[in-house]
Amino acid sequence: MKYDFHCHSHFSDGALSPHALVQRAADNEITHLALTDHDSLSGLEQAIAAAQSCDKEIRIINGVEVSAMSEFGEVHIVGLGVDPQNEALINNLKSQNQARWQRAEKINSKLVRCGIEGVFDWLQANVVEVVTRTHIAKALVELEKVSDMQQAFKKFIGRKGRAKVAQEWLPLELVIELIHRAGGMAVLAHPTRYPLSNRKLSYLIEAFAAEGGDAIEMSYPSLNKDKMQWLSIHREKHNLMVSAGSDFHYPNLKWTDLGRFPFLDQSLPHVLEKLVN
Ligand code: AMP
Ligand code: MN
Ligand code: MN
Ligand code: MN
Repeated sequence: MKYDFHCHSHFSDGALSPHALVQRAADNEITHLALTDHDSLSGLEQAIAAAQSCDKEIRIINGVEVSAMSEFGEVHIVGLGVDPQNEALINNLKSQNQARWQRAEKINSKLVRCGIEGVFDWLQANVVEVVTRTHIAKALVELEKVSDMQQAFKKFIGRKGRAKVAQEWLPLELVIELIHRAGGMAVLAHPTRYPLSNRKLSYLIEAFAAEGGDAIEMSYPSLNKDKMQWLSIHREKHNLMVSAGSDFHYPNLKWTDLGRFPFLDQSLPHVLEKLVN
């Protein structure tokens, strides 16, 4: 078996439809794929239909990546094995998405004050469901206001950008509870990508475990051996399981693809043991 438990479709900030994503995963020999769109369960139905009509054996795990607010700032929680019909989860994601559109309007106003018109119109015409900063970066590139997406984050919408708008995400403990009530497992996504010192990151992992979090991602692109080793120590200390995934968004980046992430020690307690039977 080959798995990937973290990726995005065009229902959030991925470039591909669920159908194209599943086909690409199958072409890459993946047998178990979790679709984990930002704050949305909407792509799952199409992903499952695509898997059923695919000429290769591929199973879809129902997933989601929820933006959450912890005492250490914004974190991303991947829910795996969630019931996509769960009302509490659906309703909370819906209100988070309304807040995302409000943030997009505020970012647009700041961009207008920087002399940049047309971003909100671009979003209304192009966003399928969940609006993210990736879309805003893409709008800025297509409107020829920046040369590439990295510049958009650096100049405008990243942590030090001129059009940055803070957002209050759902509280971490609520996100973990919602995932559990929907029958899923809560996974702390890409722990080393948050702007935290090692000390703060160790407190975050401790808090996540204390709130009932189930697992941490321990392999994803850009994670080196030393950091993986560091995570391994903290995982063990708090008795968390492990998960892994590519966090795939677009096909045209050479160094990322579905199923592509560093090899993980197979003796570690893995969420796939609970998800795959
Ligand atoms: P949002 O959840 O709307 O704040 O958007 C966050 C998304 O933007 C992440 O999931 C990434 O896909 C993308 N992102 C964040 N920072 C960067 C960056 N520096 N360069 C490119 N993409 C980024
Ligand atoms: Mn993203
Ligand atoms: Mn993320
Ligand atoms: Mn992601």
